[in-house]
Amino acid sequence: MSKNPDPCIRCSTIPNEKDKYCIQCGAPLENRCSDEPGPLKKGCKHVNVQDAAFCSKCGEPTLFQLHGLVTTGYDYASRPIFNMVNNWEKIMPDRIFGQNPKGSAKG
Ligand SMILES: [Zn+2]
Ligand SMILES: [Zn+2]
Repeated sequence: MSKNPDPCIRCSTIPNEKDKYCIQCGAPLENRCSDEPGPLKKGCKHVNVQDAAFCSKCGEPTLFQLHGLVTTGYDYASRPIFNMVNNWEKIMPDRIFGQNPKGSAKG
């Protein structure tokens, strides 16, 4: 069983089997998820296909996208929407919590 490693996405150099970065141009060879493990999180570390701009497992941008090796016409989808929902009550508090601000004069 001999599986040739994928060539470098940037310069097409064929890497050695265990290389993590291209020896010619320094590009990462594995399109790993950018969600690195840290003190407060486990991290994702999922390795995606070479043309993936976002991790197929968690939606974080991939290393290839962060290095400019994969371009996408789309913004990072998860977070802006999440923020928008969180800010919803700040955007229009009157409409959600207001109680008939025009007063009760009617007729
Ligand atoms: Zn390269
Ligand atoms: Zn991920």
